[in-house]
Amino acid sequence: MKRILMEVLACPVCKGKLELNVEAEGGGEIFVGTLYCDKCDISYPITDTIPNLMLPNSD
Ligand SMILES: [Zn+2]
Repeated sequence: MKRILMEVLACPVCKGKLELNVEAEGGGEIFVGTLYCDKCDISYPITDTIPNLMLPNSD
């Protein structure tokens, strides 16, 4: 994902801001990392540049 996406991404649970932790980045894209919501204490993974904002347990 592009770093600028952080401006529009929000936690799907509380619609709050997410904290970006980058593990691998290049060419303006984040390849691997996590998006963390402090309020919900949930980490959403970024893998192969794709942020996955699905809940770990959505049943
Ligand atoms: Zn949240």
